[in-house]
Amino acid sequence: MRALKIMPRPAAVACVLALLAACAPAETTSIRRPGTASPASTPSTPARPTATQHGPPGEQPRAGEVRPVERAGGLPPVISSIPTRRKVVFLTIDDGWEQDPGFVEQVRDRRIPITAFAMRDAVEAKGTPDPAGGPGKYVGAGKWGYFRQLRSAGVAIENHTLTHPNLRLLSQDAQRREICGSSQVIRKELGTRPTLFRPPFGNYNTGTLRAAKSCGIDAVLLWTATVQPGGKIAYQVPDKRLRPGDILLLHFRPNLARDFRILVDKIERRGFELGNLQAYLAAMAVDR
Ligand SMILES: [Zn+2]
Repeated sequence: MRALKIMPRPAAVACVLALLAACAPAETTSIRRPGTASPASTPSTPARPTATQHGPPGEQPRAGEVRPVERAGGLPPVISSIPTRRKVVFLTIDDGWEQDPGFVEQVRDRRIPITAFAMRDAVEAKGTPDPAGGPGKYVGAGKWGYFRQLRSAGVAIENHTLTHPNLRLLSQDAQRREICGSSQVIRKELGTRPTLFRPPFGNYNTGTLRAAKSCGIDAVLLWTATVQPGGKIAYQVPDKRLRPGDILLLHFRPNLARDFRILVDKIERRGFELGNLQAYLAAMAVDR
């Protein structure tokens, strides 16, 4: 995974600035201008890359690369993939039951762009985790502190409800309590306000979109493929291939660090880059 290249064009710089304001913690928002040396690195002692030196991780969209998205009736758009022809895919991770510290190191050291959809009951280890990933070793180990570490590693922390209900079975008011409640918890614990929402199981209705909008959500994110234990990609399309703009869904499961390494290597072997989802969404004008 290559470190972010900051392009000298004013539009790209503005995009990076907008991004940092939207998703990066205040302490990591200094930007290295194009053509200037990083103060912490010298040719003889290369420093480990950090968000402070290089800005947000992941490939940024080029001018005109993505098509704008239409909003129906002013409601947040529902997005399953990013409309681009470039060989770029996006990694998202849901829930938050298993909190392996090795995964944070991996994300930080390899500068992998990720969007995490945090679910309160998982992060706080209330209830029983999904048994599909096997027995957990770090269930709820760091609680929100784990997500603070992820955020410091450049991960955007977004909204995935309080209790993971099937939203189609709830009234709009009850959906609003789940979505607004989650945003309030994230704001209290992390100091950032989510602008993206992922409905549990991908289940939503018009009430979900109305509720999400009233909670300050700009887009509802679905996915095109899921990643199973072992790093195996389960496609939702018949031809079983990665496509430009795919959004991949993983979970915070046991062995995530190992599975993630396999997955990222597989994606790069197939000639795909890892994109910064927030930057691409900004280019689609869905976050404003
Ligand atoms: Zn979930």
